[in-house]
Amino acid sequence: MNSTEKPREYCGLCGVTGSESALEQLHLGLHALQHRGQEAAGIMAVVEGRCRLHRGIGLVDDVFRKIPESWRNESLSRGIAHVRYSTAGSSSVTNAQPLMVDVAGEVVGIAHNGTICNAQSLRRELQNEGAIFQTSSDTELVVHLMARSLMKRHKGDLWEALEEALQQLRGAYCFLLMTRDHVVAVRDPHGFRPLAVADFCDGSYMIASETISFDVTGAKYVREVEPGEMIVWGPNSRMESRMFAESPRRAHCIFEHVYFARPGSYVFGDSVYEVRKAMGRRLAEEAPVDADLIVPVPDSGMFAGLGYAEASGIPFDMGFTRNHYVGRTFIDPGLVSRRGLVTRKLQPIAEAVRGKRICLIEDSIVRGSTSRARIHTLREVGAQEVHMRVSCPPHRYGCYFGIDFPEKDALLANKVPLDDLCASLRLDSLAYLSKEGMLSCVSKYNPEDYCCACFDGQYPVEPDVRDQPPLPVSRKDEG
Ligand code: SF4
Repeated sequence: MNSTEKPREYCGLCGVTGSESALEQLHLGLHALQHRGQEAAGIMAVVEGRCRLHRGIGLVDDVFRKIPESWRNESLSRGIAHVRYSTAGSSSVTNAQPLMVDVAGEVVGIAHNGTICNAQSLRRELQNEGAIFQTSSDTELVVHLMARSLMKRHKGDLWEALEEALQQLRGAYCFLLMTRDHVVAVRDPHGFRPLAVADFCDGSYMIASETISFDVTGAKYVREVEPGEMIVWGPNSRMESRMFAESPRRAHCIFEHVYFARPGSYVFGDSVYEVRKAMGRRLAEEAPVDADLIVPVPDSGMFAGLGYAEASGIPFDMGFTRNHYVGRTFIDPGLVSRRGLVTRKLQPIAEAVRGKRICLIEDSIVRGSTSRARIHTLREVGAQEVHMRVSCPPHRYGCYFGIDFPEKDALLANKVPLDDLCASLRLDSLAYLSKEGMLSCVSKYNPEDYCCACFDGQYPVEPDVRDQPPLPVSRKDEG
C-alpha cells in the first residue's frame, strides 16, 4: 500500500539536442521533473557514435549515478530521458523508459507521458499479425506501428511512418523519440499533457514536460509543442514542424494546475503558481469562512492557501510540518495504524493551531480517509474548530488520460452524498471550488479548452471501457 492517497502522474519527459552538455542538462532537467514519477528513470544518448541506453529503478540521482564512465568521457550532444511512475505489475526495469528498439534497421528510442486509450485493441491487432512485444507498456505499440507502416510500404521515411502510427492512436500522449541523428517531440491532438520547447540560444534545444526543467538549466522558453504537432530536429538541430493531425478541440488537463505540475512551471501557457493562488482567492469569494487561521495541507495546498488568506484577510500559518524523507516507501497497513500512516508524513504543530478555528486548504479529496485522519489529528492537538476548503470540485470519475486515480466507487464524493460529506469527515464546514470558478483561474486558453472529466464525466476522448479499465487496481493509492 502506498503511504499517500494522492493521485499520481505517470511520467515526465526531457530531451536535449545540439548541445555539448546534454548529459548534465538532461540530469538537471529530469531531476526537476522528479515529482512526475519516482519509480524508475532512464536516459538514451548517442555515445561514441552509437545509441546507448541506461535505465534503472529508483530516483533520478540514483539512476544517473550509475551511468557508465564512458558516457562522461565525451560531450554528448543528443539524448532523451524519462521518469516513470509504474502501475500494477510493471515495476521492473523492463518497463522503465526510454525503450530502445530496432525499427527496420534503425535504432529508435522512445519515451512516453500519457495513456493510449485504444492500446489493448491495437496490441491485439498487432499480435494477431505476429508482432512480439517485449514490455507490457503501451509505448511499445508506437514502434510496432511504425515498423508495420514501413513494412507495408516496403520503404519510406521513419518519421512518415511515425506520423502514420500516431494517426492510429486515441488518448493522451506526449512522446520523445530519437535516433542517432534525430530527436522528435510529439503531442496528441487534444494536448492533454504539457510539453514545451526551450532554446539554449546557441543552436541547441531542450524539450520538457514542464518549464521548470528550463529554469534549472538556463534554457529559454520558446513555445509549447502544439496539439497534433510533431517537431523534428535533424543532424544540424534545426527545428522542423509537421502537423500530423488536426486538433478536434484542446483538452488540457486542468488537474496539472490544481495539483500535479510544480508551482515554478508554466503549463498550457499559464503560471502554475498564479493559477493556484487565483484558485485560492476564488475559493475565498465562493466559500467564505469564519476562522482564525488559514492552514494549507503541504505542499500542494500551499499556494491556494496563500490565495485564500490574501482574499479573506485571515492570517496564514503552517499548521503542519512535513517529513521530507517519507514518500516512496510502501508499508504494510496491517502493521501501522491509520493515524500512524498519516502522521508519518505530516505532523500537526500544536502551538500553531491550539484553541483556534482552523480553515484547512486542500487541493483535492480523493478517498477521504487521509483527510479524515488529518482533521482528527488537528482536533487532537487542540484545534477549536476545523473547516475545510478544497481548491477544485469533488472528484467523481476516473481518469483515462495518464493520471492514477482510484476506481470510481472508491472516490469519497461517490460514496457519501455531498450534503453528508462534512459530517462524514467530522468537519465544522466543508466547501469545494466550483468548476466555473476553477476554470476562471486560467487565462491563456478558454474554459472549453480544458479537460475536466474527473469532475464532470465529460470525456474529451470516449474511453474504450471494454478495452481498458481506467487503472489496474492492485497498486491504488491508499486512502
Ligand atoms: S480526467 Fe482529470 S486528471 Fe484526467 S486528464 Fe482530465 S482533468 Fe486531468
